Amino acid sequence: MKIASVEAIPVTYPEPNDFNAYRHLCLAKITADDGQVGWGESITMWPEASRATAAVIDGMAELLVGKNPVNIDALYRSIKDHSWWYGYEGGIASFAVSALDIALWDLRGKAMGCSVTELLGGPVHDRLPAIASSHAHHSSIPEMAEEAQEWLSTGLQGMKVGFGKRGNANLGFEHDRDVEYVRAMREAIGPEKMLMVDMGVKIRWDVSTAVKRCLAFDEHNLTWIEEPLGAWDPEGYATLRSKTETLIAYGEREWTLQGFERLLETGTVDVIGCDPGRADGITGFKKLTERVEYYRRQSNAHAWSSAIVTAASLAISFSSSSCKLFEFKPLENPMQHELVTNPFDHIDGWVYPPTGQGLGIEVIEEVVDRYRL
Ligand SMILES: [Mg+2]
Repeated sequence: MKIASVEAIPVTYPEPNDFNAYRHLCLAKITADDGQVGWGESITMWPEASRATAAVIDGMAELLVGKNPVNIDALYRSIKDHSWWYGYEGGIASFAVSALDIALWDLRGKAMGCSVTELLGGPVHDRLPAIASSHAHHSSIPEMAEEAQEWLSTGLQGMKVGFGKRGNANLGFEHDRDVEYVRAMREAIGPEKMLMVDMGVKIRWDVSTAVKRCLAFDEHNLTWIEEPLGAWDPEGYATLRSKTETLIAYGEREWTLQGFERLLETGTVDVIGCDPGRADGITGFKKLTERVEYYRRQSNAHAWSSAIVTAASLAISFSSSSCKLFEFKPLENPMQHELVTNPFDHIDGWVYPPTGQGLGIEVIEEVVDRYRL
């Protein structure tokens, strides 16, 4: 098998889980000379990042055409090395590498007749707990608590909520409202379910605010708090960690293994987030999970875009003992439920290893065309 063509496809779609905002992705489609196709994705978020990623993918294409997609490590190294000047420590180059790498793994699985999970060494979990991962949108706390109850009534085993997001929730800005929200949510979902809160980029707590909030949240048994001090604040995180008991999650804004290693070395991150559509694909995320296992911390997939990144994230999550759960967006949405013939879902709160060759998904090209930027 040889790679015949590489295409970058920027798409944009309304996301019901994000107050119907239009979000952007740049997909990669790699076609082999026998007609088999591999799909990849980068989670670019904004149109200019999608267009720039598409340009980088177009430039990297000539390194792949004519090559055997089975030789994935060599191909990964060639595109990574090619971006030595403009991609040092990540950025747009890592979006392009991510999309191409995921598509190569998909194609490699199809060429070899096995799933990506099998290519990664096979599943180390029989199943993983599934939780709802959403943004808080409504102004009424009881209404948000009721909505959470409804989502978790399907069996989902917990709830992660983004603060400081679009909509009218106004969470992350006032101590009393935040604590009342966490109290009401814990009461609504019960003591057994997981509950995480995730600070969006609009929230700029200082260290003492973060300590005060976390101490108040501790009473309601948070499973973890995510990015309370943003992407990089080693001294702040060390202080927070010394004064509170809640697990601290961050890392999803890193691009490369070196960046993740810097976080792990601080000893302040308990749950390290990673998006394969950002951090050098399946190859990048897999390398990270090995480091996280060494540090005896938890890895968590930031899979909040299309079914392609969900499939890639599931394959890695099932291949590493450091991954403990999996997040699903609770509301149906185009990039999960229209894009593929068999959308991913949980069964009574559990998710099982993906089956089928490659990523185990069948992308519907008319849907891709409908959402082209
Ligand atoms: Mg997050």
